[in-house]
Amino acid sequence: MNITIVGTGYVGLVTGACFAETGLTVTCVDVDEMKISKLNRGEIPIFESGLKQLVERNTKMGRLFFKIQLKECINDSEAIFIAVGTPPDEDGSADLKYVLNVASEIGKYLDHYNVIITKSTVPIGTAEKVKETIKTELSKRDLDIKFDVASNPEFLKEGSAIEDFLKPDRIILGIETEEAEKILRKLYKPFLLNGHPILIMDIISAELTKYAANAMLANKISFMNDMANLCEIVGADINMVRKGIGSDPRIGSKFLYAGVGYGGSCFPKDVKALIKTADNLDCSLDILKAVDKVNNRQKLILLDKIRSHFKENLKDKKFGIWGLSFKPQTDDIREAPALSIIEKLIAEKAKIKVYDPAAMEECHKKLGNQIEYAKDQYEALIDADAMLLVTEWSEFRNPNFRVIEKLMKNKLIFDGRNIYEPSEMMEYGFTYYSIGRKTVFPKS
Ligand code: NAD
Repeated sequence: MNITIVGTGYVGLVTGACFAETGLTVTCVDVDEMKISKLNRGEIPIFESGLKQLVERNTKMGRLFFKIQLKECINDSEAIFIAVGTPPDEDGSADLKYVLNVASEIGKYLDHYNVIITKSTVPIGTAEKVKETIKTELSKRDLDIKFDVASNPEFLKEGSAIEDFLKPDRIILGIETEEAEKILRKLYKPFLLNGHPILIMDIISAELTKYAANAMLANKISFMNDMANLCEIVGADINMVRKGIGSDPRIGSKFLYAGVGYGGSCFPKDVKALIKTADNLDCSLDILKAVDKVNNRQKLILLDKIRSHFKENLKDKKFGIWGLSFKPQTDDIREAPALSIIEKLIAEKAKIKVYDPAAMEECHKKLGNQIEYAKDQYEALIDADAMLLVTEWSEFRNPNFRVIEKLMKNKLIFDGRNIYEPSEMMEYGFTYYSIGRKTVFPKS
């Protein structure tokens, strides 16, 4: 079977490579000519563990192709996945222009039955808009070609995208016809041998399921961050509270970590888009509005702690920052808390030196020479007034504090991910701020 994936970003490239791995012939299309040239040279434009080998193997076997023009592959295809971006519009709603551009391209070139699947995260009603757009283009060509639309939201996580795609918890399929169901079941069968379910539903429910899932996860994070702030006031420890509530199976222990808020290309925009969708229907999602508000506050929580520690302006203070990506194992800095913090520190004329194992290039593209870039994590701390830990990469978990104390001007750490033990920091003689736990000071 030949399939086409339109949009070759985090989702499209992983989807294409994983489908090719099952033996299908897959063409990934993208309007970004540079990205496609890179891929055709064997270079992978994103940092994602295992992706390079997967792409290499499948291109070598003649199963995975990269093209700029959709019209070059549509004739052989049986299914077309739309995996382009759905960034936030000015009012917070999802901007559908990329999705609908693809739909109109499909309508211009479609010449036989295909199922057109939205894999991008799209608001309720988008599949219907995709259908109408394709129909309009077909009628301009005086054609009445049969096609189906379907919704197949993606749940992969950057950092473990390949594993998530190959062994999904569940596949959600919003479909309208038996023909579409047959094709999609066939495509996904190899990934479901572990017995995980394929959930067939109507298209609107499938579209909403993706938003509801991200909203629920964002909800957990903001709830824990709210609790963490209360912990600090009353002298409780959020890690103890987390363990205490997480052992209740009705709550579960995952995704209950307090920190500097959620970022990335999905949660912030999807929470806002769902709020907007509901607002437009006169349905106020009050919990979700609070989730968003708490997260905006939490992204700057380290800055509040820094300001109250120094009790003076931060001009010329030097900060060594560990971690830029919105989470470990990715180079994605979209909506990353590190960026919110850095932008504020720049505005206060502080001096900043950063280190991240994967996201230095992406950060440089965004911030240029407004900050300095260290060649390793220790260099970022030379003469620093304080260290800020923003992303919990594993190589930051067990650093040599004896080296660090010699490099820094002050023995001062602001840990936005609670990865160090307060008692140990006290032993080492650091002043140590974390999230939802007591601040510790050096033993006098
Ligand atoms: P991305 O920005 O990495 O990639 C999108 C790609 O689409 C870009 O390469 C862009 O050049 C391309 N594109 C735009 N218009 C095009 C067109 N007309 N024809 C061909 N290509 C076009 O985005 P992403 O992170 O892969 O996300 C894609 C969608 O999947 C979004 O809706 C997102 O919310 C959703 N999603 C993302 C993740 C994630 O972890 N990144 C997870 C699940 C769902």
